[in-house]
Amino acid sequence: MPRESRTVSLSLDGHEIDVAVRRSARARRIAIRIDPAKGGAELVLPLRGSESEGLDFLRSRGSWLLSRLEAMPPHVPFCEGEMLPLRGIPHHIAHDPTARRGVWAEEGRIVVSGRAEYLPRRLHDWLRREARTDIAPRVYAKAALLGKRPAGITIRDQKSRWGSCSSTGSLSFNWRLILAPEDVLDYVVAHEVGHMAVHNHSPAFWRTVDRLTSHARTGRDWLRKNGDRLFRYG
Ligand SMILES: [Zn+2]
Repeated sequence: MPRESRTVSLSLDGHEIDVAVRRSARARRIAIRIDPAKGGAELVLPLRGSESEGLDFLRSRGSWLLSRLEAMPPHVPFCEGEMLPLRGIPHHIAHDPTARRGVWAEEGRIVVSGRAEYLPRRLHDWLRREARTDIAPRVYAKAALLGKRPAGITIRDQKSRWGSCSSTGSLSFNWRLILAPEDVLDYVVAHEVGHMAVHNHSPAFWRTVDRLTSHARTGRDWLRKNGDRLFRYG
């Protein structure tokens, strides 16, 4: 699908805000999205929609949009002293340039060795590996309950989703799940594994998910309330 996107500056109630304008073949009507990763607004237009109509729509919802943008959690960069939730538990990022072993977690800290300029990259790679360590065994165990075996497991940096299941049985998961409480990760794994058996969100699908985890409802609620926050790290 072509994803032509450009940024326009708008003045709303005296605030200058940047809005990414994107056309989507899937969009049926004009829509406003908040991009949790960038913390910005996005205007989605149907392929044949008029841009000026879209911008009028945006202006008509200016105060709603401003309040949503103001409510966005702040961006937390990967650097010394910042707080990062690991499996839902707050950890401070600490830098130890003299340590010999890569990255490790201890007593509420995640310690990163090596040079300061490599800290974000090393921490990111470590979190991705931790995510795989937590996710992969759960995938195999849950798939086995359905008599299935995944074609592959990929840990990705998806911009807005938590996981996906392809028609060929390859599963992808967002590395940011390692920031969420373990029950939430367990639910997302159950959800994607459930799609290996049922490819929609029918009642039969949710019954399957319930066989694979006891955290479906709490996991969904948690992600609805807190999911956006996780996109603000790193
Ligand atoms: Zn689904």
